[in-house]
Amino acid sequence: MSGMIIEGKTGRWEVICGLEIHCQIISKSKMFSGASTHYGSDTNENVSFVDAGMPGMLPTLNEECVRQAIKTGLGLNAVINKYSEFARKNYFYADLPQGYQITQFKYPLVGEGKVVVNLSDGTTKEIGIERIHIEQDAGKSIHDISPNKSFIDLNRAGVGLMEIVTKPDFRSPEEAGAFLRKLRSIVRYLGTCDGNMDEGSMRCDINVSVRKVGETELRTRNEMKNVNSVKFVMQAIESEAKRHVETYENGGTIEQETRQFDPNTCATKVMRKKEFAHDYRYFPEPDLLPLVIDDEYIEQIRSEMVELPDAKQERFVKELGLTAYDASVLCENKETAEWFEKAANGHDAKKVANWMMGDFFAMLNEKKISLEESPISPENLGRLVDLITSNVINGKTAKDVFALMAETGDTPDKIVEEKGLKQVTDTAAIEAVIDAVISANPDNVAAYKAGKTALMGWFVGQVMKESRGKANPGIVNQILAQKLNS
Ligand code: MN
Repeated sequence: MSGMIIEGKTGRWEVICGLEIHCQIISKSKMFSGASTHYGSDTNENVSFVDAGMPGMLPTLNEECVRQAIKTGLGLNAVINKYSEFARKNYFYADLPQGYQITQFKYPLVGEGKVVVNLSDGTTKEIGIERIHIEQDAGKSIHDISPNKSFIDLNRAGVGLMEIVTKPDFRSPEEAGAFLRKLRSIVRYLGTCDGNMDEGSMRCDINVSVRKVGETELRTRNEMKNVNSVKFVMQAIESEAKRHVETYENGGTIEQETRQFDPNTCATKVMRKKEFAHDYRYFPEPDLLPLVIDDEYIEQIRSEMVELPDAKQERFVKELGLTAYDASVLCENKETAEWFEKAANGHDAKKVANWMMGDFFAMLNEKKISLEESPISPENLGRLVDLITSNVINGKTAKDVFALMAETGDTPDKIVEEKGLKQVTDTAAIEAVIDAVISANPDNVAAYKAGKTALMGWFVGQVMKESRGKANPGIVNQILAQKLNS
């Protein structure tokens, strides 16, 4: 069981958590206008009359945003609703020129779904998706340019969003973190959202409550808005759950409120109480028709989908013999999975996976470079593994060859040839080295024969040293054992 239990003074408490994630849809133009969605343009460069909320301007639905949301729904194993409606969510804010957000309320485009997450103890857990609705993003208020003025950038106003709402299925910060990483992985595989939390293209709202173990009713929850990293989401859940337990155990009550998580203090503070909660006066959007799609449309989108991380992971286990854990690490990122497949193609896949997750990732980290910048090509890593499995070099030499590959980008064959690193499998040559070591160390030979068998390791070490690491360790062990035990 992966749930987090808080041991309080009055007993044991469990954490209940649900997430709402706003994902910016990847599309060239905005959801209801032809303005560009390009990130990093000049301030207010990408603003149409529709985005600026000019009187008389009418929204036109961008079909690409609908397709992207359906694709995401299919990726989350969710029901696609053939009938959905847009609604107006009314509120007043400077960065919302229309005075309302076009969203979906009663009839969302995507219904219930599920996502399987992998936990650190090797277990998996299914997290329920409640719904996904599509809506437009607001602009951005900028308060840090002038001490007495605020500025508005409407480039983001009208960009398409998918709001993904989960069921309150999380029982620990770890589960929520695993879910966010999985969701990010899926949308990136699908190409429907870039998943960059630090740039705000994926933003997470968290609902947290606690209850005594054994209680069946949910207690009052608090919401934390716009937490912008997986780590902060996990910290926010933990600190908020502990605050609830402490409050209850000190005789207090939790009131429904919106709070803000401060990463510097790892604590939450109140933003607004429920009595100030908005009344959004939702009503069906009069400027847009209901959205009606058919099975053929959905199936056409399904047919364009790429292989998703779960399916890829399963294939790596079944066809390539990887462990579930190794497969899940390699499949989290699509580029990594594809690089691995190229490297493993025609070679010992398990060994390639070990090299990739060990020395190869360490090398990328150390050089602070991405996979694409790797001096070692997938073909060359596969070839290195071949040289080991065919006994051309031993494992120790392979580490040295790998280091040279990372430095020069050369093929392992070229390095082995030039540096004369081919393993010595010639038994006569190895036997000569062994005889020399044995005759030079009569005391240790005597000690070994007297029962100090742990000295075997020392003898192997001496022989390897004499052969400059090139002797085949299997052959060395075999001949040494024969000679010392005779
Ligand atoms: Mn929303």
